[in-house]
Amino acid sequence: MADCVFCKIADGQIKSDIVHQDEDVVAFRDINPQAPVHIVLIPRVHHGSLNALGVEDDTTIGYLIRVAAKIARDEGLWEQGYRLVANTGAAAGQSVDHVHFHLLGGRDLGWPPG
Ligand code: 5GP
Ligand code: ZN
Repeated sequence: MADCVFCKIADGQIKSDIVHQDEDVVAFRDINPQAPVHIVLIPRVHHGSLNALGVEDDTTIGYLIRVAAKIARDEGLWEQGYRLVANTGAAAGQSVDHVHFHLLGGRDLGWPPG
């Protein structure tokens, strides 16, 4: 989508610190990290939020979650733990309207979140 910052990151128009990319999924370090490890994972296909996903996205989103776990391992987080979260809609604080998951770790993460 023309005006989407995450589509632009996915196609290289906006530079980011990419930790993983393939045909379906891109993962990059968040520009405003909330934890020592804070990585954003996106499907290349643009959807505004989880609410817009269809059955045709099941494979990609399932794969994205597996990529997140692999990145968590590469970042040394498997033992201590980590969190994968998708803010969806205004009340959850979603600020970029392209489906994305935050991978957070490297410190104790409070629960429930704010
Ligand atoms: P949300 O608030 O929608 O759950 O998450 C969006 C995230 O994208 C935020 O944590 C924000 O810091 C990050 N972000 C927004 N613009 C950019 C950017 O241009 N580059 C990178 N690396 N992260 C971004
Ligand atoms: Zn997009």
